[in-house]
This record gives sequence, structure tokens and C-alpha cells, in this order.
Amino acid sequence: MAGFRSLARQVRDPGCDTALRRYSLRKCLERFAPYGHRATWDHLCRRHRFGPEDRELDPGRLVAALDELEEARAVWLAYEEQFAARRRREKHDGLRGLGAVDDWHRRVWGGNGVVRCGDPAVHPSDPLPEVLRRLISALEDGPGERCPVCAGPRIEWRAGSVDAYEPWLGPVCGDCGVGVPRAVLTSGALARARGVVRRPLAPAA
Ligand SMILES: [Zn+2]
Repeated sequence: MAGFRSLARQVRDPGCDTALRRYSLRKCLERFAPYGHRATWDHLCRRHRFGPEDRELDPGRLVAALDELEEARAVWLAYEEQFAARRRREKHDGLRGLGAVDDWHRRVWGGNGVVRCGDPAVHPSDPLPEVLRRLISALEDGPGERCPVCAGPRIEWRAGSVDAYEPWLGPVCGDCGVGVPRAVLTSGALARARGVVRRPLAPAA
């Protein structure tokens, strides 16, 4: 299975045909997709103005999309490295980790689905590196009341299925659409969210 870097090289390779370069960009999202695969793809298509089936696609747009994705990945991996180093120090000092926070980090290790968007068409429009920097600040600052990405106050509890194999249930921002990691919400914000249970529309068969 090709890694992110070799796929990225293919996206930039002017010797490859454009369809293959687009395919390689899409494959990069199997390695790193902060909103989940489909929502991150939708974000890149909209932000860099290319369609999933665009025949006259300017490869420069694919490269710009890759630049954004790569920068976001570097931001996230640097955070993970720091997090792991801090945990090692804490263990060494005999401090126990916080189970739920550690579980969440394990689940999204590598950056896939850190702020998963259940509806692939509803996600923030800001650049991905900026979104991840805001999330990281929230993780470092400790629990708050609002969405870590858009600062919106409408946190709702939703049941859904991002991919057929990955059902989930949890807090979602009613403004920008991201799934909010529980670690960045206070128990009060979580309790309020649970009071606003909403089910998404049934997925198209
Ligand atoms: Zn939000």
C-alpha cells in the first residue's frame, strides 16, 4: 500500500496524466483526512475549484489542494509527536493518563477523522491547517463550552454513520458540522448537547 508521501509525489508529477494525479490525491485521503474521506474530498474540491469528474482539470489545482492537505498533516503530526512525548514523560513520573483522552488519540492517530463530519457536504470552509491549529489549541487549553473550530454554541448530540462500517454517536457542531471530540467539551456542554438529540436523514440506499 503506497504511503502518503509517494502518493503526494504522484500528484505533483507532471509526467503522470491528470486523472491519475487526481486519483492519487484522493488516495492520500485514505492516509490523512481530518473530516473523514468524503467530507475532506468535498472540502478540497470546493476550495480549489475542481469537480470530482472534471475532464479539463488544471493540475495546478490538484497541487494546491495537496499543499493544503500536506500542511495540515504536518501540523497534526507535530502535535501528535508532542503529545506522545508528554505522555512518555508522565508515565515515567508515575502519572496515569486520562483514559478517555488517550482512547480518542489512539482512535484518530495519524489524523484520520479528528474532526469527522457526518454529512460530507457540511464542513468548515476555512483552510485545513487553520482548523487543526484551532482544534489543537482547544485540546491543550482543556474543556470549553463551544465548538473548538468555529466557536459556535450549538453543540448537538447526533447518531449517525459516517461510513457503513463506522457508526458513531456523539457531539456535533450545529454550525460548522464537525464532530467535536468529547475531551474539548465541559461536562455541562456535553449534558446540554445530550438534551438536543437529532437523527440525521436516512442515508440514500
Ligand atoms: Zn463549529
